[in-house]
Amino acid sequence: MTPNETAREQIKTAGAAAGLNRETIERLLNIDREVHASLPVRMDSGGLRFFSAYRVEHNNWRGPYKGGIRWHEKVDIDEVRALAIWMTLKCAIAGIPMGGGKGGVVVNPKELSVGEKERLARAWAKAFADIIGPKKDVPAPDVNTTSAEMDWIEDEFSKITGDKSGAVITGKSVPNGGSLGRDKATARGGMLVLEALRERLELPAGARVAVQGFGNAGGTFARLASEAGYKIVAVSDSKGAVANLNGLNLAAIEAHKRENGTLVGAPDAEAVEDVLAVDCDLLIPAALENSIREDNVGGVKAKVILELANGPTTREADEILQSRGVLIVPDSLANSGGVTVSYFEWEQNTTNAKWTAEEVDAKLQEKMKAAAEEMWKTHEELAVPLRVAAHVVAMRRLAEVAPAI
Ligand code: NAD
Repeated sequence: MTPNETAREQIKTAGAAAGLNRETIERLLNIDREVHASLPVRMDSGGLRFFSAYRVEHNNWRGPYKGGIRWHEKVDIDEVRALAIWMTLKCAIAGIPMGGGKGGVVVNPKELSVGEKERLARAWAKAFADIIGPKKDVPAPDVNTTSAEMDWIEDEFSKITGDKSGAVITGKSVPNGGSLGRDKATARGGMLVLEALRERLELPAGARVAVQGFGNAGGTFARLASEAGYKIVAVSDSKGAVANLNGLNLAAIEAHKRENGTLVGAPDAEAVEDVLAVDCDLLIPAALENSIREDNVGGVKAKVILELANGPTTREADEILQSRGVLIVPDSLANSGGVTVSYFEWEQNTTNAKWTAEEVDAKLQEKMKAAAEEMWKTHEELAVPLRVAAHVVAMRRLAEVAPAI
């Protein structure tokens, strides 16, 4: 199943469990708008290259479309549609007044210089300036995009439209209107959800954790979890995986990756084939979609999975894990800390306010705890898996505000 097929099946399953009527489910399967563009970029060599780009706007019943921009050589429209649908559900479960959208650019950013990246970001802003905006569609970073790209897009948008509020995009650098706490928000949100549910998930104190993906979400989560007393036994990135069943020295691993561009070879860390198959209590997929599939799910030993990545588990693998009694805290809740602090940034920009790191964290705690409790309550009331429960909460909230046609 492709990510888009998976997302659509999830809407149908949760829609039925929530008792929604057929028309509401159909409307939630519908994508409002998608724009395809071809971005011309002057390369350092003097030549011109064109990059395919997409913006998908799925649903805005609860507020402006909201979702990141992914730069990846394999990103395609099917994937961006799925990610947009998941954003709608995520904003609703997190209880923030935003809808769902997503963007993608087909590019391998590792091949671009900083100047080329800036020209690509500015070309993106020019191509999509008509459809984005503080009250229309508010992008953010995703895989391979950072505050630098957000700042360039914001700057270009402000030149085109004159809107200098910064609220057109989130994940900006702090001096340029970014929120304190946004850089760690996804991982911090995942930790808050984990802490809210830890006893119910029956995780032992000092639980052993394996993390797939060592970027913004996974790398930060590993550090926060280690500081909170969890034992990080394995981590991986796109180049390889390392493990130490007695616990990895994360500082040494981060230093090794900084110096050598890979985790492999870090001190006291044995290279392993597959991070997903390492013996652990809690598995954190924090890389890309479809990482846990029918062909590798047999190796998974964890009893709990907390999905920091979007769509890391295929539907087939999900069913197998359910039948084995593995509890999966779904992406729509587990990684919603990122969009929640993005919304805080948007709110600060639109009201010209600046919250302290403590204020941001307190508000995030409140949102994550409430969302986790609501999901668990629905899981028990309807006797459905956590993923279905999270989606039921989201879809009921969406159905309540469905505009008349
Ligand atoms: P990132 O680019 O910072 O990091 C991605 C990491 O995954 C990198 O370490 C990369 O090497 C690794 N990776 C790629 N392919 C891999 C593979 N096959 N095996 C192991 N590792 C692999 O991206 P990110 O922002 O951390 O996003 C990761 C996931 O989290 C994505 O699914 C993204 O949609 C999701 N997410 C991120 C945020 C956020 O705020 N950053 C918010 C919500 C969801």
